[in-house]
Amino acid sequence: MIHQKTFKDLKIIEPLLKAIAIKGYTVPTPIQEKSIPSLLLGKDLIGIAQTGTGKTAAFILPILQKMSEKGSKHINTLILVPTRELATQIGESIASYGKFLEFKHIVIFGGIKHKLQVDTLKEGVNIIVATPGRLLDLLNHKKLTLKDIEYFVLDEADRMLDMGFIDDINKIIENLPKKRQSLFFSATMSPQVNQLAKTLLTNPIHIEVATQATPIDNLHQQLYYVDKNLKQKLLHKLIRKNRVTKALLFTRTKSRADRITMFLKSYKVPCGVIHSDKSQEKRTKAIENFKTGKIKVLVATDIAARGIDIDNISHVINYELPNNPEVYVHRIGRTARAGTKGMAYTFCCAEEKSYLIKIEKLIKQEIQVINHKYHSEHAKTAEGKNAEPPIKRGKDFKGNKTKKRKPRPIHKNNRKSFSQKEKLKNKQKNK
Ligand code: AMP
Repeated sequence: MIHQKTFKDLKIIEPLLKAIAIKGYTVPTPIQEKSIPSLLLGKDLIGIAQTGTGKTAAFILPILQKMSEKGSKHINTLILVPTRELATQIGESIASYGKFLEFKHIVIFGGIKHKLQVDTLKEGVNIIVATPGRLLDLLNHKKLTLKDIEYFVLDEADRMLDMGFIDDINKIIENLPKKRQSLFFSATMSPQVNQLAKTLLTNPIHIEVATQATPIDNLHQQLYYVDKNLKQKLLHKLIRKNRVTKALLFTRTKSRADRITMFLKSYKVPCGVIHSDKSQEKRTKAIENFKTGKIKVLVATDIAARGIDIDNISHVINYELPNNPEVYVHRIGRTARAGTKGMAYTFCCAEEKSYLIKIEKLIKQEIQVINHKYHSEHAKTAEGKNAEPPIKRGKDFKGNKTKKRKPRPIHKNNRKSFSQKEKLKNKQKNK
């Protein structure tokens, strides 16, 4: 008989075991089982894993344990993350896993007043969870020091690079002591990510769990071919007819997200919206309302495609397909978490067909096509140019701005149009 390891077998200390029990975890997830023993021994780690695998506990538990064994009087742990939402979530995890320990943590990100964060720092904290921009800001203003950091975690490194944080990260790293334990997580491993990992880690252990191109088994994916102008009707029908109790709906643009929210509100569907133009206060409130069930649909741009861990999301709705196929996998990974069932609806109009092809290639499966009232054969059979988004004026096919075309100079003798010239000729003939 195979013996399933317990957290006790991993030598987790009593205060943490008590907190884990309250969370209802019975056995460690694969990433926890693989990483906790090495982290407790002080090793650096590179983890290829996305959220949903239990990776947060995989790094927080051993860090809390080591801090508890050694004692902590200063800021000993820094966890860098790409988004405010992920920072908040990790802060919440620290609070619940560290419930029976005395450590204080702070979550630092932009969009809220500096003073609040500075005041908390003055009171003394042991753990910082931060996005790079505001942390750097506070460092530059000498509001904190990172000289006592012993444990450094860089989470979602690939996304950090995508978001252009590399310079900020390097500046932050310059402020860290050389002697430290570093943990590095990324969902994908590009040459750039690899390069960053090399500069950060010393002799790390490698752990990889389920690649990002593997959608979860208990997740049902459905594809709806539909013309662009009928997407709202289809959405309304699905929400009305199916048991959509908690849906995360993705659009590609902020303006579309706002429009869908207005549309849903006009049908009295309780909903909220998050995207980068919304204030942090509004974003936090919308997520909170979604978590507590006050709203049924949370409309979001891809700001929420990764990292967000909200229990019992019944549906993910891809109202618009992402142009990057990996984002699709991240989006649908918001549902069917921790063993529950989930459903992902994908709406595809003709011009999104090329995106769909890339997605199906990545996930190595064809998504089940659903027959429905608004089915579009045009979308289903779209090929070539018809299967791609139209090129926007002033932008090339990659979306980069093109130079304005200079108007062709008109020659003095050539000002009259062809038809005018024809008329003149005829007039002269008739004279
Ligand atoms: P994460 O990948 O850290 O975002 O975690 C994904 C979800 O799994 C979270 O809701 C955690 O609370 C949950 N989780 C983490 N570890 C375990 C475990 N050992 N057993 C059950 N659920 C867990």
